[in-house]
Order: sequence, then C-alpha cells, then structure tokens
Amino acid sequence: MRDSLILSVVIPVFNERCNLREVLDRLHAVAKGISCELEVVFVDDGSTDGSWEEICVLRNLGGAHGNLKGLRFSRNFGKEAAILAGLQISQGEAVVVMDADLQHPPELISDMVAIWREGFVVDIVEAVKIRRQKEALFFRWAAWVYYGLFRFFCGIDIRNATDFKLLDRRAVEQYLRLPEVGRFFRGLTIWLGMHSVALEFEPPPRAHGSKSWTVGRLVGLARRSIVSFSSMPLRLVTWFGVLGLMFSIALTLQTLWLHWRGQSEEGFPTVIVLILGMGSMILLGIGIIGEYVAEIYTEVKRRPAYVVADRLRDE
Ligand code: UDP
Ligand code: MG
Repeated sequence: MRDSLILSVVIPVFNERCNLREVLDRLHAVAKGISCELEVVFVDDGSTDGSWEEICVLRNLGGAHGNLKGLRFSRNFGKEAAILAGLQISQGEAVVVMDADLQHPPELISDMVAIWREGFVVDIVEAVKIRRQKEALFFRWAAWVYYGLFRFFCGIDIRNATDFKLLDRRAVEQYLRLPEVGRFFRGLTIWLGMHSVALEFEPPPRAHGSKSWTVGRLVGLARRSIVSFSSMPLRLVTWFGVLGLMFSIALTLQTLWLHWRGQSEEGFPTVIVLILGMGSMILLGIGIIGEYVAEIYTEVKRRPAYVVADRLRDE
C-alpha cells in the first residue's frame, strides 16, 4: 500500500479555455479525497482562444490551485507532442494523462489511483470506454474500418482504448526512453508490455467547445499509427506481387495453349483488364512503400517533437 504521494496530471490543451477552470477544480476535489499532492501540467498546443492566458490566471490564483505547471508550444504540434512534453516535465510517482474537455471524468482518477496503490505490480491503469460516444454514421464506420485495419496489421485491439491512463513512474521512464519523434501514445503504452489493468468508464459528451479533429487529420493519424507500428503492409506488397506472378504464369500457359490450338485471336478485353489491374497494383505498392519512406524521412531528420514558446516558471 502506498501512502502520501505526488500525483501528476498531464493535460494537452488545444482551444479549451472554457473547460480549464472546471477541470482544475474537479481535479483538486479528487486529490483531496484520495490525499494526494497534486501537480497539474497544462500543455497548450498552440491554442488561439486564450487558453494560455487562462492557464496563467489559474496559476496566479495559487492557494487551493497549488502546484500548476504550464508549457505553451509555439504552434499546434498535435496531441502526441503535448502528451510527450507533459510527461517530460511531470515529477509525480504516478502520472495521469487526460483530455481537457471533461470527456475523461477526473473523478475516475480516484479509482485509478486505488488500483495502482493496491500493490507494486501495476504499471499502467488504462481507462477503457464501455461504448463509443454518439457520432455521425460516417465516423462510426470510419472508426470501425480503422480499428479493424489496426488489429489486422498490428495485432493490437485498440477499439475501446483511450489516452486516459495512469502511468507509474517506471512506465513513464520507459515511454520517455523511446527514441521516435512520431508517437502514438495509445499503442505504445500497450507495446511497452508493462503490467496494465483496465478500468471501464462511459465517456460523457464534450463540456464546451468542439472536437478539433478534421477528417484529414484523422486519416493522417490512422495512416501514421499503422505505418509506425507495423511493417506488414510492406510485406503484403510482396505477397500481392507473388499472387500476381502466379496469376500471370497461369494466363501465359492458357494463352500458349490457345495459340497452339489456333484460337488466340480473342482476348483483347483481358489485356485491358490486366493492364489496368497490374498498373493499379504497382501504384498501390509504390504508395505503400512511399508511406514508409516518408516515415523514415521524418524520423531521420530528428527534429524535436515540439518547440516551447513560453512556460510557467517554478516559484
Ligand atoms: N488536443 C491537442 N492538440 C490537438 C488536438 C487536440 O492538444 O491538436 C487536445 C484537446 O485539447 C483535448 C484532447 O487533445 O484535450 C482531445 O481532443 P478532442 O476532444 O478534440 O478529441 P477526441 O479525442 O475527444 O476525439
Ligand atoms: Mg474529446
């Protein structure tokens, strides 16, 4: 059983001004209930709605709002970069990563901490959605396709996984050891293979503001997460090639056979279909290889994942 401890809460913030105060109040109420010392880390991922000013105001309230850290990125670098930056400056023995929009109810943290405190073996407590939020039919369908592809290629089922997790300091250290710039927190924490316990919850709707993801960004995230996790699509290209080769051998034999029997006049449509089919397979293959080259290109540049424009200094 662990007693008094510092609990860090890392919160990526992108245009969440109206939610921040409530998040903080509810977090403090939770921390009081479980007698933890709270360290809140807000990472402003290039917000344009005055979120950073609100973070500064909250910090200046001091007192009950206690230990508050803040970073502001120079522009929008994405949620993954914000999570990374937050983990890097957090100091607690346990670190919770949660959204700022109250879809990850702060009250669940007391259950997470209780599970984590029970013994020394739990490295990660992950909050798992009981069911998906209500969304447009297109998004439901797209999510179904994406999670299916991810499971097929990467062998990991992340259907109901969220970024709402409690990480023991050991898990944070292992996560920070990973050298890649392009990250996928949800998948990598599973990849770490550390002992994790799932905790179910039902996500409420967003408190204020709107979802910041566009279709383009979601497709980009889906593509990157698969490419950075699995090289199976590359191997599929080879298998398609092998299948195509076998098919063409069979077709050649058939053509020769027909030629010998003097029946080789017909078959023009077959030629067109074959050319189109092979052409698109080759393009698809080059495209898949291109995705991996692009990933390698981004990684070898070794650019930092984010640039910090401003930070709240320790008092
Ligand atoms: N977020 C971020 N950078 C971005 C997009 C989102 O830091 O470029 C944060 C956002 O402020 C929120 C969390 O990531 O705290 C989840 O975002 P959102 O609610 O828009 O997406 P959801 O995961 O609920 O679909
Ligand atoms: Mg949300």
